[in-house]
Amino acid sequence: MDCDYIYKIILVGDMGVGKSNLLLRYTRDSFSLNKESTIGVEFDIKKIQVDDKTIKIQLWDTAGSERYKAIVPTYYRRALGALIIYDITRYDSFKNVSRWLAELKDHSSPNIVITLIGNKFDLESVRRVPVEEGARFAKENGLMFLETSALDSTNVELAFEKLVKEIYKKTR
Ligand code: GDP
Ligand code: MG
Repeated sequence: MDCDYIYKIILVGDMGVGKSNLLLRYTRDSFSLNKESTIGVEFDIKKIQVDDKTIKIQLWDTAGSERYKAIVPTYYRRALGALIIYDITRYDSFKNVSRWLAELKDHSSPNIVITLIGNKFDLESVRRVPVEEGARFAKENGLMFLETSALDSTNVELAFEKLVKEIYKKTR
């Protein structure tokens, strides 16, 4: 056995918020400026240590299927954690967070651990969603919250590790 636990973690959120690039940054430390979302792998794996345990994280990306509202129920099934991502420069992507949260509640386990992510933190000059609004929504809905940048790596590792550690606490 090459790991002690396997955690499935899924990424959701509107098209273009940076899901694929957050995944790419975290698992391969790379980034793509490409506007087209063809770069997305549908699935990636990363192993991390928590205490003396090796945890294999299976990260699932929608790979563009969110455009067609065609995210299949198997995407959500058995997920232990989720990142709901919006773009701090697009208010509409933040408005849609409640829709993504409802979708998660409908299709995944009631114990799923969720982090709300305001991505594109590097674009402060064109910010449309105040950090307080993101934080308030998270607090009201019992979610963890962080702002990240897949471009310059701010908080990316932290976001995934906090989520994994919370799952670890809840499931062991
Ligand atoms: P997805 O549709 O949610 O998977 O979004 P992508 O990861 O494909 O990113 C959409 C666009 O936003 C691409 O042009 C990325 O280069 C860009 N992008 C993603 N994350 C960031 C970020 O943190 N900062 C900036 N400035 N651009 C980003
Ligand atoms: Mg994508």
